[in-house]
Amino acid sequence: MSDVRDLLSREDELDVIEAIRLAESVTSGEIRVHLERSSTLPHLERAKEVFHLLKMDNTKLQNGVLIYLAYDDHQFVILGDRGIDAVVEPDFWDTTKDLMATHFRNGDFKSGLIAGIELAGERLRIYFPWTEGNTDELSNEISRG
Ligand code: CA
Repeated sequence: MSDVRDLLSREDELDVIEAIRLAESVTSGEIRVHLERSSTLPHLERAKEVFHLLKMDNTKLQNGVLIYLAYDDHQFVILGDRGIDAVVEPDFWDTTKDLMATHFRNGDFKSGLIAGIELAGERLRIYFPWTEGNTDELSNEISRG
């Protein structure tokens, strides 16, 4: 697999962006998706680098969540900033990853991404509810490496 188009059609991509918009409509948190073929860095390290490159460490409440997927490597990472990481149950990210991986194994990348976005969104809504004056701090578009 070598082209991101094999993963997500433009229509799928719009569905993922819509899932982010919906999730963010009830929280001050920010969710982003980054897709790339491969990384020479360990994937957690690379996800942290992307998190920084996308300025996700600059949200007011430190409540950004990045879903990073290196598709040729068959690896993905969900990375929450300190604010969200401090409050979710310790196994939350692993549970979320397991559910996403089930979809990915079936080749259904759209459903996997949306499942992750929805689960992260639910926790963000609980711990960082949307309040008057919240702004969309980070783009909802999918970022590509
Ligand atoms: Ca956003």
